[in-house]
Amino acid sequence: MELRYCVNHPERPAIGECVITKKPICPECSTRYEGVNYSREGLAELKRRRARNTGLGFWNKVANMAMVAQAPVSLFLLYQYYLYIFTAILNMGGKSG
Ligand SMILES: [Zn+2]
Repeated sequence: MELRYCVNHPERPAIGECVITKKPICPECSTRYEGVNYSREGLAELKRRRARNTGLGFWNKVANMAMVAQAPVSLFLLYQYYLYIFTAILNMGGKSG
């Protein structure tokens, strides 16, 4: 196994690699976050990814809200529809009998 050196400090041996960029990093360059090592670029990349996911979450929430808001209306229309059919059947029965 070859000894690897920090990508930012060629004179310092790396203690690990960034889980995002896969670059070797020394203790000073590594940021331990949620149990894994990140380089500065890796952490920035992670934030970008999280921001994207949050953005997606926001639109999902909007879509869910729209569906929730729409559900009672659909149910009401369905109710009206069945009421109409039911009334029509009752009227038909009344006329024939
Ligand atoms: Zn370093």
